Amino acid sequence: MEPVKGGALAAPIPQVQALFKAADPDASFASWAIRYAASLDGVITVLSGMSNLAQMQDNLSYMKAFRPLNEEERAVIAKAQAELRKDASIPCTACHYCTDGCPMNIPIPEIFAVCNRQKGKEAYDSATAGKGKASDCIACGQCESACPQQLPITEYLQSAAKRFE
Ligand code: SF4
Ligand code: SF4
Repeated sequence: MEPVKGGALAAPIPQVQALFKAADPDASFASWAIRYAASLDGVITVLSGMSNLAQMQDNLSYMKAFRPLNEEERAVIAKAQAELRKDASIPCTACHYCTDGCPMNIPIPEIFAVCNRQKGKEAYDSATAGKGKASDCIACGQCESACPQQLPITEYLQSAAKRFE
């Protein structure tokens, strides 16, 4: 499940996009993630969430007659993984699964977007206007149990509070 990390790997950071495009200009970014998962030993099914017809057609184009990653493609993936490890941004996919149950009405993904885009206090104040602030978090843990990316949300919020409040 989640081969494309909630869509994050369908639009990866520019350094990873450049690697994939150089290796195969016609392949979608999602195809690298899905073929990687499907090429792992012991994997017989990959569940990829698709939200429109174009995404389904893209998936079918390389999964109908599936070809596992070859050596060169594995090397490209290894380079992409190294680039992703260097990236310090919060890997939030803005799915909002965490927000509905937050008793403090904290706009978690919007706060993380402000952090990731290196924006300032003004952007933070705008993102949290009329809602909970990062420092309002009572660490109830609801959001972390709902997050499919298993992010340490409360820790990130503590950092955001220190940075912007
Ligand atoms: S831990 Fe904090 S951010 Fe998460 S649901 Fe509870 S109050 Fe909201
Ligand atoms: S913190 Fe997790 S659950 Fe909340 S929007 Fe980001 S990825 Fe989704």
